[in-house]
Amino acid sequence: MADGGRYDIVVLGGGSGGYACALRAAELGKRVALIEKDKVGGTCLHRGCIPTKALLHAAEIADQSRESEKFGIRTSFEGIDMPGVLAYQGSVVDRLWKGLQSTIASRKIDTVSGDGRLVSPTQVQAGDAVYEGDHIVLATGSVPRSLPGLDIDGTRVITSDDVLKLDRVPSSAIILGGGVIGVEFASVWRSFGADVTIVEMMPQLLPLEDEDSAKALQRAFRRRGIRFELSSRFESVKESEAGVTVTLTGGKTLDAEVLLVAVGRGPVSAGLGYEENGVAVDRGFVTVDPLCRTNVPTISAVGDLIPTPQLAHVGFAEGILVAERVSGLDVKPVDYDGVPRITYSDPEVASVGLTSAQVAERELNVTELTYPLGANGRSVILQTQGSAKVIAEQGPNGPGRVLGIHLVGSRVGELIAEGQLIFNWDAEPSDVAQLIHPHPTQSEIIGEAHLALAGKPLHFHA
Ligand SMILES: Cc1cc2nc3c(=O)[nH]c(=O)nc-3n(C[C@H](O)[C@H](O)[C@H](O)COP(=O)(O)OP(=O)(O)OC[C@H]3O[C@@H](n4cnc5c(N)ncnc54)[C@H](O)[C@@H]3O)c2cc1C
Repeated sequence: MADGGRYDIVVLGGGSGGYACALRAAELGKRVALIEKDKVGGTCLHRGCIPTKALLHAAEIADQSRESEKFGIRTSFEGIDMPGVLAYQGSVVDRLWKGLQSTIASRKIDTVSGDGRLVSPTQVQAGDAVYEGDHIVLATGSVPRSLPGLDIDGTRVITSDDVLKLDRVPSSAIILGGGVIGVEFASVWRSFGADVTIVEMMPQLLPLEDEDSAKALQRAFRRRGIRFELSSRFESVKESEAGVTVTLTGGKTLDAEVLLVAVGRGPVSAGLGYEENGVAVDRGFVTVDPLCRTNVPTISAVGDLIPTPQLAHVGFAEGILVAERVSGLDVKPVDYDGVPRITYSDPEVASVGLTSAQVAERELNVTELTYPLGANGRSVILQTQGSAKVIAEQGPNGPGRVLGIHLVGSRVGELIAEGQLIFNWDAEPSDVAQLIHPHPTQSEIIGEAHLALAGKPLHFHA
């Protein structure tokens, strides 16, 4: 076995969590090896956040060209050139991938191309070399999951990985799972002209989002002709030349050209030497404490591999936390309630903090205000519907700390960056009401919702 070298930190997996850790550790003067079997950037850059958002942008352009007459502009929509869309998507990914590789190289990180395996609490083997680290960071991420008895064949029964390579728009699709990934692909395919039905076992789309946001999304999807079967369980699928027939519990059947399985993602941990080397694993997820430490003192784990929200920015935050902790800096646990969440469909759904159901569960005394996008100039210009709901603690002298912000509408994803500042800085409506929002922007819905909560509404009446 060859000696791969000795490092302060060896990171296994070059996705969002792993590369963020490597970049921050190198910045802090650590000698770092980053072992990646495919491409640095991982799921987010190559099979997740970036390619899907490129598809959603192309979908928005398709809708705008179809609907341009509404704005007095005559265009003719001639169809979707899927190879052209894929070329655009690929150019975005390539450009970011090149940038990332050059950033990694500029920090003098040794990128090792190979399938790595933990062989001791301080060693990772890749190919025929062993890389020794004072500290090891596991960041092997996740892959699409299926259900028992549901075989993915990559043609008729597919995952998000397959959709991103599909060079045609299916005439019809059933999407199993109404979470973020299922909802985003439903939105893209509908804009591209497909007939779409989502099957979700919970009583609402986006089960983790506030019920009011889910209802608003469901109304908008109904208007767009996207069908959904809620509180419905998948029972079986039959494939034929023409497509798939899906049977739901209770006997209802649905036919379509393809079935997209979007029932969640499972951690990549099997066969990688984790358990053999004493790392505690629960249902495939590596178990960690709030500072991302495993039970083995020399090993940390970050990203989709641990049971925290499966989001790229969570992976970034955990990777940075580990790099700083191992480098001896004082670090704080990630506050997962304060992580902003966005579903980039049309309309977008964005949130931070607690939902109404969660405040009820925690028996908190709150006040809630829902501000309609119809009262916001920029939203009316964009012709988008939706709302901003703010949940604040109810104190003895009126609303206290903001506990949750929930937005629905076109482009509202960009606004949740301000929402997360409000939540994470423990702001109260009266603090935010002092801040001036530029007119006419959609950001005013945040300002005006807080003005109203602070008892001085401007363009709003209940
Ligand atoms: C369709 C889709 C859309 C998404 N959209 C968003 C979004 O809009 N916003 C958002 O925040 N998140 C989004 N996500 C989630 C986001 O992509 C993940 O949370 C993020 O990529 C997790 O980062 P990670 O580093 O933990 O894992 P990954 O990105 O999965 O990276 C793990 C890396 O480890 C490598 N690896 C695995 N095993 C080995 C091994 N044995 N040896 C060497 N290398 C190995 C893999 O090749 C991979 O590159 C989306 C995901 C999907 C699937």
